[in-house]
Amino acid sequence: MTHRNPGRRASGGTVHVIGAGVAGLAAAVDLVDAGRRVVVHEAAHQAGGRCRSYHDARLGLTIDNGNHLLLSGNRAALAFLDRIGGGSAVTETDAAFPFVDLATGERWTLRPNRGRLPWWILDPRRRVPDTRALDHVEILRLLRAQPGDTVGNVLSCEGPLYERLWKPVLLAALNIDPPDADAGLAAEVLRRTFGAGGDACRPMVATAGLSAAFVDPALSYLRARGAEVRLGHRLRRAVVDGRRVAALVFGAEAALLGPDDAVVLAVPPWVAADLPPGLAVPMKSVGIANVHFRVRPPPGMPLVTGLVNGVSDWLFAYPDRLSVTVSGTDLAEFERQALACLIWREVAGVVGHVADPAEPPPWQVVRERRATFAATPWSRGRRPGPRTGLANLFLAGDWTDTGLPACIEGAVLSGTKAARALVEAAAAATGPYADQVAGPEIGGFARMRPPTG
Ligand SMILES: Cc1cc2nc3c(=O)[nH]c(=O)nc-3n(C[C@H](O)[C@H](O)[C@H](O)COP(=O)(O)OP(=O)(O)OC[C@H]3O[C@@H](n4cnc5c(N)ncnc54)[C@H](O)[C@@H]3O)c2cc1C
Repeated sequence: MTHRNPGRRASGGTVHVIGAGVAGLAAAVDLVDAGRRVVVHEAAHQAGGRCRSYHDARLGLTIDNGNHLLLSGNRAALAFLDRIGGGSAVTETDAAFPFVDLATGERWTLRPNRGRLPWWILDPRRRVPDTRALDHVEILRLLRAQPGDTVGNVLSCEGPLYERLWKPVLLAALNIDPPDADAGLAAEVLRRTFGAGGDACRPMVATAGLSAAFVDPALSYLRARGAEVRLGHRLRRAVVDGRRVAALVFGAEAALLGPDDAVVLAVPPWVAADLPPGLAVPMKSVGIANVHFRVRPPPGMPLVTGLVNGVSDWLFAYPDRLSVTVSGTDLAEFERQALACLIWREVAGVVGHVADPAEPPPWQVVRERRATFAATPWSRGRRPGPRTGLANLFLAGDWTDTGLPACIEGAVLSGTKAARALVEAAAAATGPYADQVAGPEIGGFARMRPPTG
C-alpha cells in the first residue's frame, strides 16, 4: 500500500521525515515552512524520542525521560520554541548557579556577569570558593587544542576549580568523564556559555514538561500546516535505485518515492547505521540516570542546583517533584531501591530540615542506557553532515556533525541543516544550473534489500 500526504499549500514532492525526536520535528517544521509536503514516520507510539514526557504510574505524575537543562544561549532551540509556541512551558532564571559540596556541606553561587568580559572571575563572591582569578587562565588551553586531543591531554583536570566548576559543567554538557572528552567539543561548549557571558548562561528548564515545550506544540504546528504524523510507523528498510532512495518499507506498507520526493533520516546513530548500511556513525553511547521524588520543593528553592563530591550531579526543582540527574552513567550497578535511598540522602542534605534523610518520598529511577553518543575524539571523526551519497537522502540527529555534543540545541540545528540541504538540492536539481549539479559528496551507502512480498 502506498500513501500520499494531501498538504494543501505544499509544493514539490513529499518529504518523508523518519523519526519524530527533536531533530526530525525541527526538520519537519522547516520543511513545511518551506512549502514542502511532509510525512513524519515515528517508530514509537509517542513523539519526542529522548526528549519526552510520560505519565509515571508509580509516582502518579507526568515526568520527563530525563531532566533537560537549556541555557539562554541555545539560540536555535529557543527560536524553535518560539516558532512552535512551546516557550510558555519553559522557566528561565537568572545566570546564577548555586552549588553544594555534598562532602563538606559548603555552599556557593557562581554568578557570571552579563557581558562577555568575564570580570566575575575577579570577584571572590561570584566565583568558586578557594580559587584564585589566575586559576581560570588554564581553561584557555582548550581553545588551542588540536584535533584528536582529549580534555585530559590539555588540562590538568585537578584542583578546586576543576572539581567545583569545570568538571560539573563539562560533565553535564558532554555526558562523559571530562578527561576522556573531545577537547574541541569542550571548547565549543565553553565558548557558547561562559565565553558568551552571563546573558547566554541563564538556566532554562521545561517545568511544564519536555513534551509540552518541544513535542506537542511541534505536532500541532505540523498538523495545522497539512503535515501527516504517523506514530507507531517504524521504517524497516529503504530501497535504493541508482543514486536515489526509491522506496521506504514500513512493515506491510511501502511508500514509493517519486522523482521529487526525498527522505530525512532523523533516527539515532545505531538505527541509521543499519538502515543505509556502510554509514559510519558514532556508535558508542553513554547513559544518564535520573531519580525523581514526589515531593514539593521548599519555597524559594533554585530551579537547578549543582552538586559536587557525591553521586548526584544536578538537582532540579519542579513544582511537583525534586529530581536528580547523574550524568555519564546509567548507574546500572546499583539496585533501584538502594540507588533511590542513596540519592535521597544527598537530596535531603541539600534541602535541609523539610526532608527526612531516612525516609525517601515516593520515587522513581529512570535510566537511559543510550542517552548520548560518547563525546570522544573518535566519535567526532565519525559525524556525517546532512548530505549523503544518495541525492534524495539527508541526515539529521544530535549525533550528526553539528559541532556540539548531544543536546537539544544540536538536534534542532541538525534538523535545520538537513532541511536546508534538501531545499537547496531540490532547487539546484530544478533550477537553471540543474545540469551542473555535482555527484554525491560522500559514498559508502550499500544497496539496500528490495522489499519482499
Ligand atoms: C536522560 C537524558 C538527559 C538529557 N539531558 C539533556 C540536557 O540537559 N540538555 C540538552 O540539551 N540535551 C539533553 N539530552 C539530549 C537530548 O535529549 C538529545 O540530544 C535530543 O533529544 C536528541 O534528539 P534527536 O532527534 O537527535 O534523537 P532522538 O530523540 O533519539 O530521536 C530519534 C527518533 O527516531 C525514532 N526512530 C528510531 N528508529 C526508527 C525507525 N526505524 N523508524 C522510525 N522512527 C524511528 C525514535 O523512536 C526517536 O523518536 C538528554 C538526553 C537524555 C536521554
